[in-house]
Amino acid sequence: MSRQLLLAIDQGTSSSRTVIYDNAVTVIGSSQQEFAQIYPQPGWVEHDPEAIWRSVQDVTRQAMQDVGATAADIVAIGITNQRETTLIWDRQTSACIHNAIVWQDRRTASYCERLKADGAESLVSQKTGLKLDPYFSATKIAWILDNVKGVRERAVNGELAFGTVDSFLLWRLSGGRVHATDASNASRTLLFNIHRQEWDDELLQLFDIPRELLPTVLDCAADFGVTDDETLGGAVPICGIAGDQQAALIGQAGFEKGTTKSTYGTGCFVIANTGDKALASGNQLLTTVASRIDGKVTYGLEGSVFVAGSAMQWLRDELGIIDSAPESESIAKTTGIVDDVHVVPAFAGLGAPYWDPHARGAILGLSRGSGRNEIVTATLQAVAFQTRDLIDAMADDGIAPSTIRVDGGMVANGWFLQFLADILGIPVERPLNVESTVLGAAYLAGLQSGVIESVAQLAGLWQREALFEPKMSVDRREQLLAGWGAAVARVRTGG
Ligand code: ADP
Repeated sequence: MSRQLLLAIDQGTSSSRTVIYDNAVTVIGSSQQEFAQIYPQPGWVEHDPEAIWRSVQDVTRQAMQDVGATAADIVAIGITNQRETTLIWDRQTSACIHNAIVWQDRRTASYCERLKADGAESLVSQKTGLKLDPYFSATKIAWILDNVKGVRERAVNGELAFGTVDSFLLWRLSGGRVHATDASNASRTLLFNIHRQEWDDELLQLFDIPRELLPTVLDCAADFGVTDDETLGGAVPICGIAGDQQAALIGQAGFEKGTTKSTYGTGCFVIANTGDKALASGNQLLTTVASRIDGKVTYGLEGSVFVAGSAMQWLRDELGIIDSAPESESIAKTTGIVDDVHVVPAFAGLGAPYWDPHARGAILGLSRGSGRNEIVTATLQAVAFQTRDLIDAMADDGIAPSTIRVDGGMVANGWFLQFLADILGIPVERPLNVESTVLGAAYLAGLQSGVIESVAQLAGLWQREALFEPKMSVDRREQLLAGWGAAVARVRTGG
């Protein structure tokens, strides 16, 4: 008797992870492995594609071994992945012709500036919902075509394939038989028209990228193919793919218009489901494909805060004033809300809605009695204030959430979540399973394979573990927000 298990692969920026679930989508085993970051020059970030592939195989085999599962026990595989990271490989040998260029890589910044100066940004954002920024895949593809000898000609001849990490893993898992991606990953490339749901010739021309390179775009829950016999010892269907932030929204069962999730890991990523409407932002947020299921596109508005959990690491590693991230909670509890001291953790500039890449961090409002406790508490508060800035921007763009579902490592901190609810003025919901990203990939695989019957059943699987209701008075909230606004104004460069 086979065991009806679901297997989800989360290929992230610093590690790869596989989680195995039973047919009630409860976790029964997992395995994780970090891999090396490659920094060839300041501002450049690469991954070795073989290291990605090895780590994915290792963690998948390990997780299967840990739960005593064979390929026959796995009903379906779901994949979620670091988004935008760009790979190009040889269709004949499956070998990549360059390291993966990671989303964080800024090598194409001046290329983006040139395109902007030529007036290309409005076309790009109108079609893709994104900004003309090195973050997204298109200029990374162009860079490889322009800098690796002989590659452009081979691309035009159809000898090469481009993919984001999901697509690369699908190619490898299927033994080089399938070249496809899903709409959520495609929507992060700068080449995909999110309104028409197809690769866009005008954009391909703008970035000078041959169409022959591109994968087929399928729904997030789809029959992507099966694994070859070698990799997992049998043919297992691959049934779900979504980029990591979209997968987190799916894992939070964010299928209704207005549902909003905020993931607090290293950084913070908020996505609000805007239903079948692609809302264009007047506040520098991104419009993206949140999911595509049964051919139905759901759009999302996305904003991010560059520094969230990593601010706790800064307190620990650079300032040395806490021993561990969880210690921030006990410190904040004894200190209470801090009014005068503000930490603006703009270590890498300020994101939406300010979009000031030249701003830098600051600690403001110190008096003789201010010390470690105030700085730690103010740093936690800053993450909540920045979330509020994003939610305000979303409201201004036309989507105002009535609650927010949170996930990621930082949501273990109950004090932070209570402060977040108070500052947002809406309830904050923490799910039983805070690993929403990988769960979202499992949900997609479950849907397509029939382990989960419908999106409605899926919504019923989501369970809340804790609810944080806003308790603060409006006056108090406004007073704190005014203090935060003044602190941000002090670090902005006007750039
Ligand atoms: P990522 O997926 O980006 O690696 P995780 O979701 O694993 O991140 O979350 C890790 C982050 O959460 C770290 O930056 C850490 O500082 C922060 N973190 C973990 N526990 C707590 C806590 N109790 N309070 C505040 N921050 C925390």
